[in-house]
Formats: sequence, C-alpha cells, structure tokens
Amino acid sequence: MALELFQNDPYLRACEAVVTGSDRKGRWFTIDQTVFYPMGGGQPGDSGVAFRADDSEFEIADTRRDPSTGDIQHFVKRIADLPEPGAQLHLEINWERRYLHMRMHSCLHLICSAIPGKVTGAQIREGRGRVDFDVRYPRERHHLEESLNALIQQDARRIIRIYTPQDLENNPTLVQNLSIKPPEGVEKIRMVHFEDLDIQPCSGTHVAHSGEIGEVRITKIESKGRRNRRISVCLVDTEVDTNI
Ligand SMILES: [Zn+2]
Repeated sequence: MALELFQNDPYLRACEAVVTGSDRKGRWFTIDQTVFYPMGGGQPGDSGVAFRADDSEFEIADTRRDPSTGDIQHFVKRIADLPEPGAQLHLEINWERRYLHMRMHSCLHLICSAIPGKVTGAQIREGRGRVDFDVRYPRERHHLEESLNALIQQDARRIIRIYTPQDLENNPTLVQNLSIKPPEGVEKIRMVHFEDLDIQPCSGTHVAHSGEIGEVRITKIESKGRRNRRISVCLVDTEVDTNI
C-alpha cells in the first residue's frame, strides 16, 4: 500500500518512489509512496509526469483508488510506458491543476458553514465546483456570495485532526452539525477544520488558510428536486472574461 504523502502535506509536488506492481490490462501501476491524489469526494484524481532513472519521462493521466485493495492506481496514457515492478521513479504532479482543486475544494467546505443543510453531492473542477444540499434555501445568490467571501477573507487556518468512532459517539452535537456524514466502519476519521468556521470529515486536499481560496462568485443556484439546492461557484481569478 502506498504511503499517501498528500494526507499530511498537500503542498508536496514531487516524490521519489519504487514501483510495487503494475496491471497491463488496466494500464496502471502502484508505488511505495505517492503525492498523487486519487479521485474521491468530488475531487478529480491528479495527473502529472514520472521520470525514470535514465531521465526519460512519461505522463500519468489519472489517479484512482483500487476499490478492492484500497491502494492507489496511477494510470499511464500509453501501455508502452507502464513501468516494471522494482523500477525507481521521480514523480511530479500537475501542480497548477491540483492547486485549483485545493482552492475550490476548500471553498466548498466554507459553503457548508454558510448553509445549514446536509450535502448530497459535490463536484470539483479547475476553478469551478458545485455542491448540492438537502434544503429549499437559499434562492438568492448575492447574499450567499457576500457571506462566503467574508468567510474566505477571515483567512482561517486549516487543521487536520484524526477522530475515532468513539470520539464521535462522545460528541453527538458535533456529529449533528456536520454537513457530511462521517464514514462508517473505519477506525480513524479524518476531520478537516477551518478554524472557527467549519469542520467536516474529508480525505481530500485543502489549502492551509482560507484566504488562499481568493475571491469567489456564486454563478448559479438551482433547484434539483423539491428539497435540494445546487450551488455552483467559481474562482474569480480563473473566470474567462466573456466581454472581450
Ligand atoms: Zn474536503
């Protein structure tokens, strides 16, 4: 099983690794440690580059978690690039893309603190994202946009804490207030705090301070069913100016 370096340090862009296995049919390989985040929680898997010992390189197109073993699968574009077990690699993620995911992912956490509902779905892309809540409100986007940008500007520190199922049992108020249901049947639950603003169980990658998200715009609030609102949001500095 790969050591998941992004869990403790989401800012790590590169690492050395040894190939532990590969699958020709599936076009993926596994390694002893990785900086590549596997698709999950609405966040896409990382892409990037791998360098072999002879300095030649190949592309990693996608990263997923193997549903049967839980190990991280790194997908190559071309079957000829698949490394042999034992090979030593230097891996680098596409950092610009990942950082946009981190900023948007963190933004979706802050929306949770602005809307008193349970999350029923989320999707994160480069510079934009959306989250569904089981509520009838809000209907109006300007007020939400203002509150959200105010939360971002507080520049709250992000802290990761590991809880046991027992910790959660001892703290029913915390569990009631979560927008995202904690995973069941696991010994350790990874909780992401934006200090004084929000706390949710999550295994994704987030920015260290909420201010890094930058200014955001709520692009749409839609009704998706009688008790379901979909909030779409984008990072202002990545928006394409359609007036040009
Ligand atoms: Zn998260």
